[in-house]
Amino acid sequence: MKLKTTLLGAVAVSALISTAAHAQDVPAEVTLFKDVNIFDGVNEEMLEGYDVLVVENLIREIAEDIPTEGTYELEVTTGELQRVEALPGSGVNGYTVTILDADGIQTETQEVAVNVIDGQGRTLMPGLIDTHYHLMLAASEGDAWRLEQPDYTHATMVLEANRLLQRGFTTIRDTAGPGFGIKKAVDAGMIPGPRMYLSGTLITQTSGHADRTLPFEEPRIFSGGVPVGESVMKLDRVANGRAEVLAAVRQNLKQGATQIKIAVGGGIYSLYDPLDVTEFTVEEIEAAVQAASDWGTYVTSHVYTPKGVLRAVNAGMKTIEHGQLMNDEAAKAMADKGVYLITQPFEPQPQLEAIADPIQYGKYTQVVEGWARTVELLKKHNVKMGFGTDLVFSPGTNHEQADYLARFGTWFSNVEMLRMITSTNAEIVALSGPRNPYQEGPLGVIEAGAYADIILVDGNPMEDITVLGDNGVKIELVMKDGQIFKNTME
Ligand SMILES: [Zn+2]
Repeated sequence: MKLKTTLLGAVAVSALISTAAHAQDVPAEVTLFKDVNIFDGVNEEMLEGYDVLVVENLIREIAEDIPTEGTYELEVTTGELQRVEALPGSGVNGYTVTILDADGIQTETQEVAVNVIDGQGRTLMPGLIDTHYHLMLAASEGDAWRLEQPDYTHATMVLEANRLLQRGFTTIRDTAGPGFGIKKAVDAGMIPGPRMYLSGTLITQTSGHADRTLPFEEPRIFSGGVPVGESVMKLDRVANGRAEVLAAVRQNLKQGATQIKIAVGGGIYSLYDPLDVTEFTVEEIEAAVQAASDWGTYVTSHVYTPKGVLRAVNAGMKTIEHGQLMNDEAAKAMADKGVYLITQPFEPQPQLEAIADPIQYGKYTQVVEGWARTVELLKKHNVKMGFGTDLVFSPGTNHEQADYLARFGTWFSNVEMLRMITSTNAEIVALSGPRNPYQEGPLGVIEAGAYADIILVDGNPMEDITVLGDNGVKIELVMKDGQIFKNTME
């Protein structure tokens, strides 16, 4: 049975008696964006002079002239909106819902707040997504987190979560670090922040990329399980052997991890591992992949080298982080298995400024030099690429994530970069399958039924990608889940 609900522009209408069943069918919030140019996350054609109607937390309709009043039809049993159609009328920016029964007889009316936003030709596009972020490290001044009380660090993370939204990032995939409680508070609407896909602790072997124990500290197998300080901060966890890897993976899943991250090769900043080494045995990696896939989700890997990439891909990982030392065979294997690469265009740094340690600096230089060749291989084999910054430290000042995007400009067109940071990144976070916390609609696209995660930009990012950067100063409006978190428009 269908219930017909009419939205009418009205100056003043008193609410009549409503029945509980009908009242809950009435949308709590409606936002109408007028006169915007739309990049929908996929198409290279910009839709010019369109309107976008948002009902509650989802995009309802995209059309050239959506009136500021209309008719809704609701499915009585589910409360789901079936159709929106225009009615001639006054154009008043206020709505009254008139609920009609199946025979078209008015049973009640109820006022609904409708927010009409005149875009005046601004670009409307999906909220930005960063698929390689570390909320805790991004929020910290250098290694300061290692010396702080956990609750102080968590307070800085809350601030950073809001900064992400202000820069236009409505979703992050956090690829190592704490945040399950903060995510819960964000989702409950207690504090502002992006949607979060959290990995929990980065799992590493003794001596591996994320082994932050001191040189004289011994693995737990030798020390009787005495915990080290780092484990309190939940950034990373050392695990050796199948049993410990399984426990580490399951501990993250228990807390609500949407995907698992392990380190399969050397890292730049890590203390003990040369860049060329391969970490974790095939058996250990396969244990991680099995535990994750038994939970309905997947594993991603920190790794630079072809040998590590191949080991990760052959074990069933679905995404690879970094990969700057790729070779032909590894790139082809990724393409064949549909594995996504999230890589970073690191730029040359003068030694002893950004990276004081000569060993770390040498590793960094090697990765920087590998980048151009890697991109050529990715393009040759058509490897799917997402966008993730891995930017850390100096909170709020140099996390201009979208500026980072512009560094891809030598190899990719603006629309290719825009797809990466929206719809492709949305595909990546959705790899979490049944563990995906946001399943009402797709992310990263502007289409009917998608989540209303939307930014309004003063400028055209298809012509000038830098309008998304500079800490989001030209991103004048940010909506997430149908709620506006930033509006600096006149
Ligand atoms: Zn990282």
